[in-house]
Amino acid sequence: MNNPEVFLQTIHAVLGKNTRPINLHEPTLGETEIELLSECIQSTFVSSVGPMIKEFEKNLAEFTGSKHVIALVNGTSALQMALIASDLEPGSEILIPSLSFVATANAVIHAGHIPHFVDVDEINFGIDSKKLRTYLEINAEKTKKGLLNKVSGRMISAIIPMHTLGFPVAMNELIELSNDLNLLIIEDAAESLGSYHNGKHTGTFGKMGVLSFNGNKVITTGGGGAVLTDDDMAAERIRHLSTTAKQPHPWSFHHDELGWNFRMPNINAALGVAQFRQLPEFLDRKRSLALNYKEAFEQLDGHYMLWEQPNSKANFWLSAVRVCGNNTQQRDRLISVLHQEGFMVRPFWNELNKLPYLSHFPSAPTPSAGLLIDEVICLPSSSFLVSNDE
Ligand SMILES: *Cc1c(COP(=O)(O)O)cnc(C)c1O
Repeated sequence: MNNPEVFLQTIHAVLGKNTRPINLHEPTLGETEIELLSECIQSTFVSSVGPMIKEFEKNLAEFTGSKHVIALVNGTSALQMALIASDLEPGSEILIPSLSFVATANAVIHAGHIPHFVDVDEINFGIDSKKLRTYLEINAEKTKKGLLNKVSGRMISAIIPMHTLGFPVAMNELIELSNDLNLLIIEDAAESLGSYHNGKHTGTFGKMGVLSFNGNKVITTGGGGAVLTDDDMAAERIRHLSTTAKQPHPWSFHHDELGWNFRMPNINAALGVAQFRQLPEFLDRKRSLALNYKEAFEQLDGHYMLWEQPNSKANFWLSAVRVCGNNTQQRDRLISVLHQEGFMVRPFWNELNKLPYLSHFPSAPTPSAGLLIDEVICLPSSSFLVSNDE
């Protein structure tokens, strides 16, 4: 069933009448941010060193349970650093979901690897381990050097599961598969700060995990990202590589290899520390908003909210509803009607394996990713759209 009018009434029932456009996601910024930012400015430490970076990293380490957190300039560069510090076979293929933001594929390519797209499941919206196992049984072969793609002749070295909209991937099955086939796991947890699977924070299952603090994420540092890892050597290496590979010294500029300038500036970290203090409240509000949407959309036939599984706790970064039976044209018509009324809903991304610059890379069949992209509508999800005492 696709009736834009009924859909619009349902949104109105949750958000009320709008007097201005309601964006998909806006940050909540206030007194705490102003206070910490002006403190940072008065200290003059606005750039690549300063106490706020350490504090923000410590906050995140305690919150996620990760031993090390390295704050970087954005989530994409964090993924790139995580890949480079993993010392994977150069030029090898990395399995990534076809349903993701382009950053996942871009980081793989920037790190000198080949993205290999795979399908997602319709329960968790992340990599479907069962389908992946069957696909690899046919197309790949275990060798002494590792997993060989029999079709391309390249090695397959790692998997990057992505926790879509903050809904955790079924990690147990994926870990089992990665152990069987000797694949490293790096998690794209860019959207899932505050999401847990079997009580463990997303981004802490693999060798490394990555967060993003872009302006539209659960908390923001303006632009920013972080790598999570329990591996001492990898953490050390990422700190080194992301600060132009400079050896610590009071005045000498000795750089021992080709590095990057990817560390998060102190002024961004100040914003992060302020935002972090409100994270529990943002998460509560997002959950209440999702529950309100759920109650309203449950009244409509064929409309289902994307929801967490019993063994998981989602952060509900973006609330999203699945309109069963929608095709691309129906979806786009629905979205334009809502935009005319000032509700800036969005579809998922375009499918990665269909983008012109990515379409020549290897891909498994990805019917479920395609279906979800046609049927899912992401709803306005700013945490200020609901009061937290509902
Ligand atoms: C936001 C995001 C990233 C990282 O984005 P940056 O803008 O570079 O911080 C990576 N992967 C996914 C799935 C994302 O949503």
